[in-house]
Amino acid sequence: MTDAHSSPATASAAGPDDGPKNFIAELVEDDLRTGKHQVVVTRFPPEPNGYLHIGHAKSICLNFGLAQRFGGRCHLRFDDTNPAKEEQEYVDSIQEDIRWLGFDWGEHLYFASDYFAQLYAWAVHLIQEGKAYVDSSTTEEIRRDRGNFYTPGVESPYRNRSVAENLALFERMRKGELAEGEAVLRAKIDMSSGNQNLRDPLLYRIRKAHHHRTGDKWCIYPMYTYAHPIEDALERITHSICTLEFEGHRPLYEWFLDNLPVPSHPRQIEFAKLAFSYTVLSKRRLLLLVKEGHVAGWDDPRMPTIRGLRRRGYPPEVLREISERVGVAKRDGVVDIGLLEFVLREHLNRTSVRRMAVLRPLRLTITNWPEGHVEEFDVPNNPEDASAGTRKVAFGRELWIEQDDFREVPPKGWFRLAPGKEVRLRSACYVTCQELVRDEAGQVVELRCTWDPESRRGTTPDKRKIKGTIHWVSAAHAVEAQVRLYERLFKVENPSDVPEGGSFLDHLNPDSLEVLEGCKLEPSLGEVEPETRVQFERLGYFVADRVEHQAGKPVFNRTIGLRDSWAKQEKKG
Ligand code: ATP
Ligand code: MG
Repeated sequence: MTDAHSSPATASAAGPDDGPKNFIAELVEDDLRTGKHQVVVTRFPPEPNGYLHIGHAKSICLNFGLAQRFGGRCHLRFDDTNPAKEEQEYVDSIQEDIRWLGFDWGEHLYFASDYFAQLYAWAVHLIQEGKAYVDSSTTEEIRRDRGNFYTPGVESPYRNRSVAENLALFERMRKGELAEGEAVLRAKIDMSSGNQNLRDPLLYRIRKAHHHRTGDKWCIYPMYTYAHPIEDALERITHSICTLEFEGHRPLYEWFLDNLPVPSHPRQIEFAKLAFSYTVLSKRRLLLLVKEGHVAGWDDPRMPTIRGLRRRGYPPEVLREISERVGVAKRDGVVDIGLLEFVLREHLNRTSVRRMAVLRPLRLTITNWPEGHVEEFDVPNNPEDASAGTRKVAFGRELWIEQDDFREVPPKGWFRLAPGKEVRLRSACYVTCQELVRDEAGQVVELRCTWDPESRRGTTPDKRKIKGTIHWVSAAHAVEAQVRLYERLFKVENPSDVPEGGSFLDHLNPDSLEVLEGCKLEPSLGEVEPETRVQFERLGYFVADRVEHQAGKPVFNRTIGLRDSWAKQEKKG
């Protein structure tokens, strides 16, 4: 991990009473203790212009988590102030994703568009108070006259229009009598303010677009910066938590609350956006990945979207836990993706049953095993958790093993199969490789082995030491599957780091997906429900694909590999 996140301010487990001690939780706690607020009310305000990603998950866990912990409530409010970009598809997916994460807004579902009438009325109020005016300058003129960090802004020639003229013009804007870009409504604050956000910010602009909820009722739309504080106040939000880029907007947020007859005065609090190495999180970029077909969709298992992570096999608990572990920072930083993978592995190790699967099959025949004879062995479901029990797995003369578990010319220290070598077949017996069968090209296509009937329970009366243990699947019972192996989508730690004229797309990992057909699974895996998570012994954690897996036609995605898989197993023997 680097900089801002290097000291996670959190405990590892949160109950209702002892949650993470981050600075926002402390503020809330104080406000409840001093009686400033009786009940904490937060909100999550997504713009429905894309699918939620893991950064949003952080914000969701923070807002809903605070409400849960302090017995308050969290509203879900869609910021649908921009009619051009928003779609019902996103509204639906966002709700589904928040529920999947384990949170619920109850009856508190709102849309910015619910407030359009009130927002309009209060814009009129500001005009009447001499605190807003219609500016007929062009967009370019307004941008130019705003000045910059070093130079103050220049007042618009339309700034001192009379209240009556402003009211009439704003009314004409609303009626659609002016064209897009012909006029905007601006707050009249201070063109020479050191804070550029206070240099007469826009309140309304003309957009002759169809809105997904209000249809063609409006052709003027409020700016987010104007709408947001008002929505917060109307919903009596106590703590309005947003990301750091809004810090400079806080004085404006306050200005609206101070200059409008709002029923409450929420407090805006900023925290750092969550970012991970090897990952991009901007919605614009994620949309580009989808549109240009670099991934198969918003729910592609390589995407950092909640959908993508879910399809990859991440359980919601892991997203909640990582949100807590990284803490709440006041400075932007990048979290090592390895931390997320660590939390994931830890969780899956505890919760996943073990199954056997052979991804790149090599035939193994036991020549001294009677033709057609089947025995069942008891195989533990989780060697690290005896309470998970055992299952019966069929075993016969013909088996599949992993190509990788055999070397014709073994390197030094090789404990797996090789000519003349003996290994343990996991939870079954010992076999010795006696003979190789080759195809016309000279490739080894089958190992002919003998077994030791004395070794049935994985040990022998002479207690001879067998260092290598490999997994297997009975050929007569195996279920065929497609298995997809996923790697990181980007090759470099910081995909945004590109030379002049380059693109983050230049850093895409060309090997982020490998699709294997004809994998052999132990029979029980053919029947599991989509989204079932398992550990394929010695290979990693896999999940039955949410979309394409079906009974009789299994499709599994690799969630993540096992750390030092081979080395570790070898030692265990
Ligand atoms: P993006 O930058 O990906 O386009 P956004 O901020 O425009 O995201 P919104 O729909 O406005 O997307 O976000 C909803 C809420 O989620 C906001 O309160 C925002 O601050 C928060 N949020 C967005 N990205 C992150 C992040 N990376 N970490 C934490 N919170 C985030
Ligand atoms: Mg936003």
